[in-house]
Amino acid sequence: MMKKALTIAGSDSGGGAGIQADLKTFQELGVYGMSALTAVTAQNTLGVQGVFPMTAEAVARQIQSVGEDIGADAVKTGMLFNAEIIEVVAEKIKELSWEKVVIDPVMIAKGGASLLQQQAVSALKKHMLPLCLIITPNIPEAEVLTGMSISTMDEKKDAAKRIHELGAKNVVLKGGHDEEAAQSVDVLFDGRDFTFFSSPRINTKHTHGTGCTFSAAITAQLAKGASVQEGVSVAKEFIQAAVANPLDIGNGHGPTNHWA
Ligand code: PLP
Repeated sequence: MMKKALTIAGSDSGGGAGIQADLKTFQELGVYGMSALTAVTAQNTLGVQGVFPMTAEAVARQIQSVGEDIGADAVKTGMLFNAEIIEVVAEKIKELSWEKVVIDPVMIAKGGASLLQQQAVSALKKHMLPLCLIITPNIPEAEVLTGMSISTMDEKKDAAKRIHELGAKNVVLKGGHDEEAAQSVDVLFDGRDFTFFSSPRINTKHTHGTGCTFSAAITAQLAKGASVQEGVSVAKEFIQAAVANPLDIGNGHGPTNHWA
């Protein structure tokens, strides 16, 4: 039976991040992809030129339509933009009893555009973290969630513990923003043990959509029945290949390559 994954996220007209990255990743990893749009962004490799949020009602209705008919074996959230959308997404996930939920706590695009209103961070912590199986913050997002400044490995471990205390069952703190390091090390904390996923750092400006792609790959693996550890491990390999073979399109920061 075909496994199904739903992404609840924003659209990137440039095709490198957001629901486009998620659906391409689902397809590559052999699961049927579905989407509930939270916002439309006008975007290309140069940056984000416009953000047009959906109404909370429209987001809720899309999730309900998928849930009541097709169902989902795993679900991920990306750009949620504001507190109203966060609240209905959390409500629907609870109503539909979805448990394999991956949160990519998207906040700011690489070019600096805000994809989550600042006043919505507390709503994300309160409503979304307690219902997710895995959360995948990068270092700046983990700093916002914890209020800590993070640079050493001890600080990364401490931040992962604190985010776990906020309700996330598993925390993958991604090392991609640690630009000094020769290795990009992702730290997984499951509430008891730490697992480290390490890969050589690749110097490229074409990393648009890496966070979306990574969390979508975990979601696809969970949909197929993988454990959290297995899912993160496959996603790490998938993103490493995608970054190693970037697509040099447009005039700015190109996307990672989903079929590398
Ligand atoms: N646009 C949308 C709609 C996204 O969901 C994301 C995901 O984080 C981004 C842009 C961010 O892209 P970037 O990898 O360039 O930060």
